[in-house]
This record gives sequence, structure tokens and C-alpha cells, in this order.
Amino acid sequence: TFKALVVTKPDTGYACDFAEFDEQDLMEGDVTVRITHSTVNYKDGLAITGKSPVVRRFPMIPGVDFAGEVTASTHKDWRPGDHVVLNGFGVGETHLGGYAEKARIKGDWLVPLPYGLSHAQAMAIGTAGYTAMLCLMALEAHAIAPSRGPVLVTGAAGGVGSVAVALLAKAGHEVVASTGRTEEADYLKDLGAAEVIDRAELTGKVRPLGKERFAGVVDTVGSTTLANALSMTKYGGAVAACGLAGGMDLPATVAPFILRGVSLLGVDSVMCPLVVRKEAWRRLGNELDRGKLAAMTSTVPFAEVKEVAARILEGRTRGRVVVEIG
Ligand code: NAP
Repeated sequence: TFKALVVTKPDTGYACDFAEFDEQDLMEGDVTVRITHSTVNYKDGLAITGKSPVVRRFPMIPGVDFAGEVTASTHKDWRPGDHVVLNGFGVGETHLGGYAEKARIKGDWLVPLPYGLSHAQAMAIGTAGYTAMLCLMALEAHAIAPSRGPVLVTGAAGGVGSVAVALLAKAGHEVVASTGRTEEADYLKDLGAAEVIDRAELTGKVRPLGKERFAGVVDTVGSTTLANALSMTKYGGAVAACGLAGGMDLPATVAPFILRGVSLLGVDSVMCPLVVRKEAWRRLGNELDRGKLAAMTSTVPFAEVKEVAARILEGRTRGRVVVEIG
């Protein structure tokens, strides 16, 4: 057996507790990994608390990402001793996940630990940071160069937001960081934000078209915030939408699309093809400043993961939280 956080669905509702998990109950897979680190993403908060139906198999070990070392493999690409990272592919949702000392998964889901990153640093990046990179890549594919104007990041003090601020600034963009926690202005400026705005500026009544302010946007919030961001995007600009921390709805009009040629770029990390995934992790290894990564990261022992899950849903965690497993 090994230690794991396990979600069950008893008749009385939804339960999530630490347990000794029997190795024989691991799901099918061709690679076994000894997990050293995981992390807490917004989705993990939903899975642990049961606030949204993220978990679709019971019992489930939540945790949508992990870093660790291969201990057994029949997959052609992996051998014992390899250092690997996994995020997405339904791990922690439909396949037993990262809040455990062991995982058995498909080798096709793994990426090599990026060169120069420790397991802990890879999880400081985690799904959130990797999603921030996918947003940057989506904007770049739309030719949103620094010369075109400022780029807005919403939910900036959160996990995706913090990494997005650091990556965009490093790529030369003038970053405008929107946060509900204006007391985090210095933190965001240290990560590279040129300007910090109060999220209230983006939660007011949505006008079909607002003043053209941003060449690009990384939105982690959704709802009114995303609608307002669209209406403030400059002619020909683009908005990479990846989150719903403020709501799943989108109370927008088509005006930004048909009058300003604004593009809404959807970003999904979970089923993102392996070639894009590997490129995103490779770039994170090269482009994310280690000092900034450390500044946005806190570390908790495995035993505290449930407390952090509750906090992240309230928007009370700053940056990224690494969980030490093994
Ligand atoms: P997080 O650390 O909790 O960051 C979310 C941030 O959003 C909070 O820190 C807060 O930032 C802001 N926020 C929270 N509640 C809000 C509200 N009611 N209204 C406006 N802003 C609010 O979570 P995360 O792990 O970075 O994830 C961020 C979002 O991206 C989540 O919705 C998550 O599900 C999504 N996501 C999607 C993918 C994908 O594949 N598409 C991958 C990863 C994450 P401030 O305090 O700075 O305002």
C-alpha cells in the first residue's frame, strides 16, 4: 500500500480523506511512477471539495499533475530512473491522480522533466504555468508582438496569472495585471507587470465596445471580466481565454469580433496534443526566470493539501503552491 488522498462518494455525499491505497487497485497503464511532488490548481480545489463535478470515477485520487521518477515501465520511451512530468489527460478526474506516493499511467501522457528544472520547480510551474505558456503561444501565433501594445492578464495574482505576467514580461510585452488584491501590486510588479489595475475595472457593465486598450489578453476569469476584456481589445487583437474563476458565462456581444476583428482564442491544457505540450514545457524550462518562479511559489506538506484546496477556490492563494509528496 501507499499513502494517497482519496475521494469517495458514499451515500451521504462526497468525501475526501487520506488513506492507504492498495497498489493492486491502481488503474491500467504501462508506466509506474514514484511521485515526489504535486501542486494545487484551481481544478484540484474543485475536485477535493466536490464543489464542481470534476471527478468522474470513484474512488478517485485527485491531483491533475505530478513530477516523479519512473520505477517500472513497459513503454518504449521510458525506463526506471527517468524523471517525468505529467499534467492533464484526465488524471485526477477519470484516471487516478497525483496526490499519492505512486501512480500508474500511460507512458504516452508523460513528458520528460525539462532540462535544468527540479521536480519541485516543475510542479511550481504545474498545469497552471504550462497553461500560461499555452496562452502566450496562442497570442504569438496570432502575431501579438510587444510593439502592438499592452497585454492584459486577469486573475493576475493567481497561479496561471502569475506565470503569465512573468512570461509575457520576459518576452518584452508591457503587462497590465488585473487583480482583486491590489495589496499584491508590488508582488505583481516584481514579476514584471508595468501596471496593476483593480479587477473592478473589468467587472462593471459590459459595453459592446470600450476604449481600445490592449493588443492581447490572457484571461483566467471568464464571465463579465472576459466580456469587458474583449470590448477593450484593440483592432485586430486577440484574447486567450483559459479560465472561469469568475464564472462560466460570457455576457458579451459580437461587436469586438465584427467591428474590430478581435479574436477569441480558446486554450485547453488537458487534451492538448503532445507536440505542443512538449514545446510548452521546453520553453518554460528556457524562458521562465527561476527567481520569479521562486517568488511566486509556496510549498506545503502533503498533509495540508485539503486546506489549500479550500483556499484556492476563495481566490486566497497567491501564485503557485507546490505539494511535497515523497
Ligand atoms: P487561482 O490560482 O485560484 O487563480 C485564479 C485567480 O482569479 C485568483 O487568484 C484571483 O486573482 C482571480 N479570481 C478568483 N475569483 C475571482 C472572481 N470571483 N472574480 C474575479 N477574479 C477572481 O487558479 P489557477 O489554478 O491559476 O487557475 C485559474 C483559472 O484557469 C481557473 O478557472 C482554472 O480552472 C483555469 N485553468 C484552465 C486550464 C485550461 O486547460 N483551460 C488550465 C489551468 C487552469 P486576483 O486575486 O489577482 O484577482
